[in-house]
Amino acid sequence: MKEITVIPLGTISPYPKGEKNNPGYLLKSGEEKLLLDCGNGITRYLSFPEDLQNLTLILTHLHKDHIGDVGALQYASYTHNNLGSLTKKVKMYLPKNDFNHSKQSMRETQESYMTYHDIEQKNKEQIGPFELTFYNNNTHPIETYMVGVKVGKSKIVYTSDMGPNASEEVIDFCKDSDLLIAESSYLKSHHANSKVHLTAFDAANLARLSKSKTLLLTHFWPEEDPEKYLLEAQEIFQNSFLAKEKQKIWIRR
Ligand SMILES: [Zn+2]
Ligand SMILES: [Zn+2]
Repeated sequence: MKEITVIPLGTISPYPKGEKNNPGYLLKSGEEKLLLDCGNGITRYLSFPEDLQNLTLILTHLHKDHIGDVGALQYASYTHNNLGSLTKKVKMYLPKNDFNHSKQSMRETQESYMTYHDIEQKNKEQIGPFELTFYNNNTHPIETYMVGVKVGKSKIVYTSDMGPNASEEVIDFCKDSDLLIAESSYLKSHHANSKVHLTAFDAANLARLSKSKTLLLTHFWPEEDPEKYLLEAQEIFQNSFLAKEKQKIWIRR
């Protein structure tokens, strides 16, 4: 039996507030760690140098709320390498195309101990026990990847930021996931009619259509009461939960 531990480190957007950070989710299995996005504030909930060991960072897209703490992580890798407490480079996966020179600036940073890799939608990446797949559903304003993570029989899907899209391909990508981590920027009552973000209802609908076992809602508006997202999702998908900073989830199969 293999186990994945999921630790939400940031659950709100577009700015951090109080104890809450911008998006970031740490996944651990054995010695290996995956960090899905690196939003403002999340490094305060990481432990250095431990969490730099065997770490791969996946940036799903280059919007500021998902990359705000990359500089802090780079400096952490740089200083711990200088101190001798980090001897294996942190891997960073990024979308192929740059946005506002963000990618260039990250890659050219000298004070970092990292290697850089492009996300390839068609390829499976095996990183330790994690089998990774990526899917760009083309509903967010810039190149953005959904991430599928399998360890043994367990499957986790992270939607990243996306617009409402219940296409066969998207449903198939999320199919039978044990945990669907889905953005829910809006509530129906916001009347946003967004084409680039989901409501809690949309997220729950995706969980229902894909026959996911559990839905973890995230990417909340900082000024909104999270319980409202939960109520809206549970209208159509009972097994919905709110992501909370540092609240661990274990998946064993
Ligand atoms: Zn975004
Ligand atoms: Zn976002």
